[in-house]
Amino acid sequence: MTIKSFHPPTRTLMGPGPSDVSPRVLEALARPTIGHLDPAFVDMMDEMKRLLQYAFRTENALTFPVSAPGSAGMETCFANLLEPGDKVIVCQNGVFGGRMKENVERCGAEAIMVQDPWGRAVDPDKVEAALKAHPDAKVLAFVHAETSTGAQSDARTLADLARKHDCLTIVDAVTSLAGSPLEVDDWGLDAVYSGTQKCLSAPPGLSPVTFSERAAEVIRGRRHKVQSWFLDLSLVMGYWGSGAKRAYHHTAPINNLYGLHEALVMLQEEGLENAWARHMSHHQALEAGLTAMGLSLVVPEGERLPQLNAVSIPDGVDDAAVRARLLADYNLEIGAGLGDLAGKIWRIGLMGQSCTARNVEYCLQALDEVLTDMQAGIRSGAAVDAARAALGETSREAMAN
Ligand code: PLP
Repeated sequence: MTIKSFHPPTRTLMGPGPSDVSPRVLEALARPTIGHLDPAFVDMMDEMKRLLQYAFRTENALTFPVSAPGSAGMETCFANLLEPGDKVIVCQNGVFGGRMKENVERCGAEAIMVQDPWGRAVDPDKVEAALKAHPDAKVLAFVHAETSTGAQSDARTLADLARKHDCLTIVDAVTSLAGSPLEVDDWGLDAVYSGTQKCLSAPPGLSPVTFSERAAEVIRGRRHKVQSWFLDLSLVMGYWGSGAKRAYHHTAPINNLYGLHEALVMLQEEGLENAWARHMSHHQALEAGLTAMGLSLVVPEGERLPQLNAVSIPDGVDDAAVRARLLADYNLEIGAGLGDLAGKIWRIGLMGQSCTARNVEYCLQALDEVLTDMQAGIRSGAAVDAARAALGETSREAMAN
């Protein structure tokens, strides 16, 4: 048996992540591997921390990428902040709030759940009621951008409530970082984790995290050792910490870090606010096109996440068959629904490099053709024009190029 080199097909990635990776980042990944304690690499690590501080809008010294995907960033936050017996208020309005609960319980802490319907933002009134009912809660945990439903919660208001009730915040910003406004310092967020494969458009496998001084103090004052050796910040920071001697902790994923560095340089070149605006304007164009086609978004206006659009599947349409046609005939990936929303929605991502006028047009055209062919009862031929009108004259030129 001779197995040959793997050459993946070229896809357009418009699902819930990963998103398209720019050729610049792919080129950075292919640069020569050097040692993870090489002085040149260490200089790059210092730049990486500054670039992440820019993306998170924070001065937090404890800001770095965990060497594993977003789930490891999540575990880093919970494992380091929680100790057995602690109480955490966990907001759940989709899949990822459920994972927060799992993390809390595996730390030996108690999760007080605040439930909201899938497809809605977290309701601050319910959160306030829970904070009042549990004055001994140590942490409020919530997902800023619920990738499973396309709902965005009001992180600033939730953080204000937490502070008022003397609680720390753990915030899932996996899909919000670089896609929609996220102000770690301004909003007073304490422990925030993200991923590289969404709006940063780097390959998956790293999890940027940032911790406020308040959170760092709680971690320094722990009574018990963190139960995970790999994620214990008191050890990891011997490698990543400011002023640290950069002692060996684990072998860093060197080339993947080159890729993230390049993606962050690209973000800095575009400007963070411009990236946020780009995600919003293309979301509005996609929404205009879908509406013109007769499709509707699940999440109410005002709670929508621009970079993840949850679309109701029309009655009688075979969810999996549509996605399979898009992949086979158009090399286009969109996402399926998860959990309660499986079979009921498609998730169309507009993240990072995938968030372009060309992709909006391509996705609408492909959906229009496939659904028309399947006699799904949509209005054919209206979507692309509606999207172009929503994007306006300037972007129309971009679409043509
Ligand atoms: N949190 C949210 C909101 C996510 O969307 C994801 C991944 O899609 C994760 C956490 C977990 O990240 P990863 O799959 O990189 O481990």
